[in-house]
Amino acid sequence: MYDVAIVGAGPAGSTLARICAKNGLNVIMFEKKKEVGNPVRCGEALGKVELINQNLELPKECYSLEVRGAKLYPPNKANPLVIEEGGYVLERKFFDKWLAELATKEGAKLKVYHKVEDVKVRKNHYTLNVKHGGRKAFEVDAKVVVSAEGMEALIARKLGFPTVHKPYDVDTCYEYEVIPYEHEEMIELYFGNEIAPRGYVWIFPKKDKKANVGVGVGGHITTNTKRGNLKGADPKYYLDKFMEEHEQLRNSSTLLDFGGVISVGAPLKSFVKGRALVIGTAAKQVDPIHGGGIALAMQAGYIAGEALVKAFKNKKLEESFLKKEYEEKWKSINSNKLQKRLVLRKVMERLGDDDLNFIFKELNKEELHNITKENFAPAVKKLIMKRPSLIKVLSALIS
Ligand SMILES: Cc1cc2nc3c(=O)[nH]c(=O)nc-3n(C[C@H](O)[C@H](O)[C@H](O)COP(=O)(O)OP(=O)(O)OC[C@H]3O[C@@H](n4cnc5c(N)ncnc54)[C@H](O)[C@@H]3O)c2cc1C
Repeated sequence: MYDVAIVGAGPAGSTLARICAKNGLNVIMFEKKKEVGNPVRCGEALGKVELINQNLELPKECYSLEVRGAKLYPPNKANPLVIEEGGYVLERKFFDKWLAELATKEGAKLKVYHKVEDVKVRKNHYTLNVKHGGRKAFEVDAKVVVSAEGMEALIARKLGFPTVHKPYDVDTCYEYEVIPYEHEEMIELYFGNEIAPRGYVWIFPKKDKKANVGVGVGGHITTNTKRGNLKGADPKYYLDKFMEEHEQLRNSSTLLDFGGVISVGAPLKSFVKGRALVIGTAAKQVDPIHGGGIALAMQAGYIAGEALVKAFKNKKLEESFLKKEYEEKWKSINSNKLQKRLVLRKVMERLGDDDLNFIFKELNKEELHNITKENFAPAVKKLIMKRPSLIKVLSALIS
């Protein structure tokens, strides 16, 4: 009987495993892939804040490049807005493995190539049905189960969490790692309805003149290609078009090629059910503006880990205690901010390219900084004064 069984060794699961094991809990973590962090399905951008909060020093092999900030381009690609805030472009196959290793060093047990196929709710524990590769399944018992499964979240669904997404609440993505790409050690983001409807193209620079170039488009978008209208979004179509129109990227080689889906709606309403917890992207804890989920996954792993340590120490494994210590704490830090950012995303998707060009041209550094801190009012007032027709869309940001 384990204290805690974790499904998935991504940033969320490994962080929770580390915190629980460090504080004496008996932890097992299952990862269905043959190797933690590989294959990579991520743009690999990460800010510094969560690493600092968790007192983690990122080893050199875990990141490719330290970036100085971000350049945001409007549809006409003139007047980019600049955000000066340092961060990393990771090498996730090393980063995820590092986080998992830290957990094992604290005493957590990790089993890769082990897929949790099913879960049964018992009176005071859970029984996981686990399969190692193609072998016969076996059973594992644990007092607490944590779903850190990322987007699929099938075990969380079996536990009763509503993890299915509507197409509108996801961005479908496509990415290439390219070489060569000359860059300024700045992240580049490109917006526009022709470039990436309800999303953006990203160029995340890496060392040795490499870059991750990707696109996310609204999952509900019908793609208008030369071959006719495709039902559903076709991110590869937008990415290939962007690459073809880009002087440098047109002739670059690709080193990696993959598609994926990111949650960009609201988080689940509840993250705890009995003694089952859901953390990270499985709980839809993702930034709705840019789809970044690594930092939020690590943060949820940390908060939920501390909640479990406290619950075991005080013999209070009941749902109400776990909700108070994990769910309410997480919400008090994130809900207000993420809700405002979701409104901003919904406003941005209603803006035409001409309005976007205008807004990018008008915003100054201070207004942009305020927007990144969810203080929209000063910028909105100015923009509406200068272009009154914007009131229809932008007023949602100040109501
Ligand atoms: C194309 C793309 C680009 C992205 N770019 C960025 C970015 O630049 N920056 C950023 O912050 N975020 C980005 N994200 C989002 C980010 O990858 C996720 O939010 C983040 O990885 C969430 O961490 P997690 O630990 O919750 O889940 P994951 O990292 O998805 O880890 C979940 C793990 O659980 C395993 N698993 C699932 N089911 C089972 C099972 N039944 N049994 C055992 N193991 C299981 C999976 O194999 C996986 O390893 C991107 C996502 C996509 C798709």
